[in-house]
Amino acid sequence: MTDETNGAPMRGPFDTPAQMRTSRALRRRVAFLDRDGTVIVDKNYLKDPADVTLVPHAANAVRAFNYALVPVIIVSNQSGIARGLLTEDDYRAQRARIDDLLEERSAYVDDHYHCPHHPDITGPCECRKPGIGMFEQAIVEHQIDAASSFFIGDKLRDLLPAKAYGARGFLVPSPETSPEDVQGALAEGFELASSLSDAAAKALGLPHEPES
Ligand SMILES: [Mg+2]
Ligand SMILES: [Zn+2]
Repeated sequence: MTDETNGAPMRGPFDTPAQMRTSRALRRRVAFLDRDGTVIVDKNYLKDPADVTLVPHAANAVRAFNYALVPVIIVSNQSGIARGLLTEDDYRAQRARIDDLLEERSAYVDDHYHCPHHPDITGPCECRKPGIGMFEQAIVEHQIDAASSFFIGDKLRDLLPAKAYGARGFLVPSPETSPEDVQGALAEGFELASSLSDAAAKALGLPHEPES
């Protein structure tokens, strides 16, 4: 946004240029990870938290971000809630289970966001990916520098929000990924990764040793 009179960046009434630079410098890049098919196995409207299974080696990827001091934020469409297939309580129990399974492997997620809507049932919303509502909320709540953050998932809609910020997106194909999503991701300039830990290595500029 610019000031109409002189094109200078808009600023709050009490922000000096130095304060603006400081608050920008304090913003952090994060890894935005899709949940189903990316961090946990996609079981199509998972309900019972006992059925939560981590994608093989996903914990290694989360840990790589942890070591690099890049906060990890899970961002998930959960239209099963709108469809009445699971409740908010079921979702919260799943979330706790994911945190526990990762913690057993010394890996930590900083926060989780979810969209409980479905446009056909609850009407349009701003949070359902590829909408950016959940990302906008996280950016404010976690002081995120979105442009230098990473958007990672198994569907094109997980990556498209990156375009709003000029950020990098990585498609990690799962059994649920369509060829159209792969082609679409490449056409949009996103990167392909063979696994979540490959995506983490590419994002962080680290060598990737494929897990056996
Ligand atoms: Mg997914
Ligand atoms: Zn929503």
